Amino acid sequence: MPAPFSGGCLCGAVRYECTAEPFATVYCHCRDCQHASGGPSSTVVMVTKAAVAVTQGAVRSYAKKSDAGDDVTRQFCGDCGSPLFSVLGSSPDLLVLKAGSLDDPSWLSPSMNIWTESAQPWAHIADDLPNIAKNPG
Ligand SMILES: [Zn+2]
Ligand SMILES: [Zn+2]
Repeated sequence: MPAPFSGGCLCGAVRYECTAEPFATVYCHCRDCQHASGGPSSTVVMVTKAAVAVTQGAVRSYAKKSDAGDDVTRQFCGDCGSPLFSVLGSSPDLLVLKAGSLDDPSWLSPSMNIWTESAQPWAHIADDLPNIAKNPG
């Protein structure tokens, strides 16, 4: 995996860099990710929070309890609305990046589906990956 890597929002106002390799990429089918992404799931990249720096612009935040009762702060560009990061109250050292925000997401390799109990019946779910009904943590 190529680290460092960079990314940003759709309009370019917010840019970030990550100096460490991700330790997981997963498809999250929770209802909150469906709302926040506008699609059947979010593809999210788990990295160490300390490895990520916002190099341009500033994110806006929206905090909500997850279905698992965790405090999830979702961060996005206030200009174009692109989702960028999530911070979990239960794992403050972790940063969850939206895969689509990477400048080059092509090298990512998702390893599992989570929250499949709320997956949409029309979602295409890869059969060769583990499916976790809720949160693996
Ligand atoms: Zn933007
Ligand atoms: Zn989710």
